[in-house]
Amino acid sequence: MQIHKNISLINHNTFRVDNSAETLILIENDEDLGNLLKDENYSLKSKFFLGAGSNLLITRPIKGLTIKNIQTSIKIVEENSEFAIIEVDSGLEWHNFVSFCLDNCYYGLENLALIPGLIGAAPVQNIGAYGVEQQKYFDSLICIDLNTGQQKVMYGNDCNFDYRHSIFKQEEYKSCFITKVRYKLKKSFEPDISYKDLKIFFQDKTNIQAKDLFDAVVEIRNNKLPNHNETPNAGSFFKNPILDENQLKDLLTIEPNIVYYPIQNNMFKVSAANLIEKAGLKGYRKKNVGISIKHSLIIANFGNSSGEEIYDFAKFVISVLIDKYKIRLEPEVIII
Ligand SMILES: Cc1cc2nc3c(=O)[nH]c(=O)nc-3n(C[C@H](O)[C@H](O)[C@H](O)COP(=O)(O)OP(=O)(O)OC[C@H]3O[C@@H](n4cnc5c(N)ncnc54)[C@H](O)[C@@H]3O)c2cc1C
Repeated sequence: MQIHKNISLINHNTFRVDNSAETLILIENDEDLGNLLKDENYSLKSKFFLGAGSNLLITRPIKGLTIKNIQTSIKIVEENSEFAIIEVDSGLEWHNFVSFCLDNCYYGLENLALIPGLIGAAPVQNIGAYGVEQQKYFDSLICIDLNTGQQKVMYGNDCNFDYRHSIFKQEEYKSCFITKVRYKLKKSFEPDISYKDLKIFFQDKTNIQAKDLFDAVVEIRNNKLPNHNETPNAGSFFKNPILDENQLKDLLTIEPNIVYYPIQNNMFKVSAANLIEKAGLKGYRKKNVGISIKHSLIIANFGNSSGEEIYDFAKFVISVLIDKYKIRLEPEVIII
């Protein structure tokens, strides 16, 4: 394992905020975590798990251990004519895995192309895009509870997947470091173009191949989202609020043309981007932090903003929406 003391995390988070980690540990092989647990210097320290930092706002120096897996192997563990179960190290970049699957004719993840970040965080956030969430193809994962040293295998039903949510956000699972994730992918391709942008993209097209869908998602994302390497950001900062019928009625009284769609149990998902836009905040900036002009759900760092400045800006957006619509936006980004 690699151990780095008092190191800046500026290159380990896509907001590019310059906070440090007291000790950054990069896991290079399967024995490293066991050795870490045995070492008295480390076993009792607080632990934070880091991926690519693309869903993270770091507002302070991180004390204790910051642990990141840098292993990237991919292994087929089961395969037949219909499906394959593929096991991936949590340190591999998500998009590289999606590309691997496309190149090797394992289908299902095309709609999730180009999502930044590493495999380990995908189940934590239950990442999703263009009408598909990772849970649809999730098989299981292996994690190690760094409080007890116990290794666990968890299947879909154990993980409480929901919209940008999983059991790993609950306090008692926050000590579980995910080392490997398994996905069950199809050997025959059926495009899912139910999402509006994809329906429009493929309007007159029949016989859509997996590569067509993958390329479409990449093209749409590149047009729609600011590139975090040029304009640092962590993707959608807020979740889309979910309202019941009465809450929706109240909102429509204030803002009749708001974008929303029905989900299960008589509930409605409202577009947070649309709410922010209607509140007049698209492109709004305070110093070097602001709402992206390309996408209203994205808060961007336009200069050398600190994590605290970005967090203050997020709290400002929340307060504007409470005042205007009585809706409290919940961050999708993990704030530490
Ligand atoms: C431009 C842009 C576009 C984006 N678009 C989307 C999108 O379309 N859909 C979407 O869902 N998300 C999107 N995101 C958010 C982000 O890409 C995902 O949430 C991604 O899964 C985060 O991965 P990461 O490795 O960067 O995790 P990090 O940000 O490093 O960590 C996220 C959380 O996972 C935990 N974690 C990380 N690794 C492990 C591990 N091995 N074990 C246990 N816990 C761990 C961390 O402690 C933290 O709580 C976007 C982000 C950006 C910058």
